[in-house]
Amino acid sequence: MDSILQDALIYGKKYLPSGKVANYIPELAKADPSHLGICLMLPDGSTYQAGDFQVPFTMQSIAKTFSLILALKTAGYETVFSKVGMEPTGDCFDSIVQLETKQLPPFNPMINAGAIVTVSCIKAQDPFEEFLALVRQLCFNNTIALNESVYLSEKRTGMRNRSIAYLLQSDQILEGEPEQVLDQYFHMCSVEVTTVDLARYALILANDGLDPITGTQMLEEWIVRIVKTLMLTCGMYDESGEFAVKAGIPSKSGVGGGIVATTEQGMGIATYGPVLNQKGNSIGGTHMLEYLSSKLNLHSFASKTYTAV
Ligand code: GLU
Repeated sequence: MDSILQDALIYGKKYLPSGKVANYIPELAKADPSHLGICLMLPDGSTYQAGDFQVPFTMQSIAKTFSLILALKTAGYETVFSKVGMEPTGDCFDSIVQLETKQLPPFNPMINAGAIVTVSCIKAQDPFEEFLALVRQLCFNNTIALNESVYLSEKRTGMRNRSIAYLLQSDQILEGEPEQVLDQYFHMCSVEVTTVDLARYALILANDGLDPITGTQMLEEWIVRIVKTLMLTCGMYDESGEFAVKAGIPSKSGVGGGIVATTEQGMGIATYGPVLNQKGNSIGGTHMLEYLSSKLNLHSFASKTYTAV
């Protein structure tokens, strides 16, 4: 496995020159474009890593999987899906076009509009505190914390997200104060993790909510099923279809350069590489996952008689 991960890294690195680090949140532009790393965990707890797997990064849109879990746990299926849909969108993650043309409610919880509504559904005294507690619990790391500079940077420059929140309020989809909901959302996006943290979380998702290492049921199965389905159909922005065909692994990416991926075989994988392609997905990360999918036969719909190439 070590040598497969090394090969995946070499393969992923080849693509770095054709992408760019995100800069619409100024703090993100400081990331080192040469970084690329991966962590993979098997159900028996064996962990494999390669490259810059220990470099911390902010979750950004990966936070949308945790906020969905928290909303489903605290508000329930009916409430959440009365406010947000389950359909993929062919538009970019921060698009307002569907809001402007009144295609409501927002298509799914993995795009900004849908995630902002999902955050507003969370029933908790302090939604961010609950969110952070959930992240720490599912990543088995109590030191996970907010990256204050990224949070402030995003709060200062998040005008597109503000437009989204106010449009949602004008159509009575978003209840509550837009600035307050946005502040929760910006906090959640700015939580800092490593690939080791996210691979640990992915391991739980990959095993239907049961942590195979401790034997504890960490999440209800129905919630995990919804989250993984939406990761497969909507988790890679408007590249979700292509990534589903090529890699076929339920995954969620963030503009911070992370990708969290859960396999049918019960593996948890996370990649980090801040250089993004035009759709906003880590270019090294997507290629490493495609490589591993092919080498290890990880496609969710792979034929039983498939021969790895
Ligand atoms: N915080 C980012 C934003 O809302 C998250 C976007 C992403 O990772 O796709 O713009």
